Amino acid sequence: MSKLIDSLESVGRQRLAIIGFPFDDNSSFMRGPAQAPPLIRQALHSDSSNPWTETGVDLGEPETFFDAGDLEVDSPALAFSEIENSISKLLSYSLKPISLGGDHSVTYPIIKSFGRQFPRLSLLHIDAHPDLYDDFQGNRFSHACPFARIMEEKLADRLVQVGIRTMTGHQRAQATRFGVEVHEMKHWSGSLALEFDSPVYLTIDMDALDPAFAPGVSHHEPGGLSTREVINLIQSVNAPLVGADIVEFNPIRDPLGITAMACAKLLKEVAAKMLDVRC
Ligand code: MN
Ligand code: MN
Repeated sequence: MSKLIDSLESVGRQRLAIIGFPFDDNSSFMRGPAQAPPLIRQALHSDSSNPWTETGVDLGEPETFFDAGDLEVDSPALAFSEIENSISKLLSYSLKPISLGGDHSVTYPIIKSFGRQFPRLSLLHIDAHPDLYDDFQGNRFSHACPFARIMEEKLADRLVQVGIRTMTGHQRAQATRFGVEVHEMKHWSGSLALEFDSPVYLTIDMDALDPAFAPGVSHHEPGGLSTREVINLIQSVNAPLVGADIVEFNPIRDPLGITAMACAKLLKEVAAKMLDVRC
């Protein structure tokens, strides 16, 4: 548990929580996302921008975010249960968690916690990859597998994927098996009108963005979304946004800090949507 989780008693009027999961043990190609959370925070608080969102929310108001710090994982074997417990703890204080990865494997224990709390939950998953492998390189908890685990345990009743451009035969079969709504990049027309009738959890894998917009990821997959298009998707969510994660930012590949800033920009618009009482 992070030290700050113990300080939850100090939660005041905050409705949003930020928590970092510096964990990349389930990455299949290269390590690095474990270093991401402090760099996203730094970009979020950078004086190079202001704390207002595009939709007119001042995130600089005091008591907007409860920052739960970064999870300190005692051993990799305990990481998933500690991630799940920390999210449950934040939810028990009626905080909407925004998790900073870490590799994408962290979304499975996060959604285990959400699944208990929300009997009806839609997942909006923005990614170059469907992450639906039954196992990958012998690891069923690989960052290539979280949505197979989530759907076979029925932790969400709807999974909508956007940005996909790496489908394989196996994963296409998995998508059919689980009834996943896959919006592939090959059919992308610039925007998408998505309708949700249950609370939404948003999971953003930074490699959904074209490497030109977000080079700081482990898996460069050309032909992706622009930063603008992802922001538009966030702003178009028409149902309560109850939680989110931003994962797979790899600072080792981000010498100019472009991807850190893209993460912070998306985080701001996610926070604004979470605070939007009209949804
Ligand atoms: Mn992913
Ligand atoms: Mn990906």
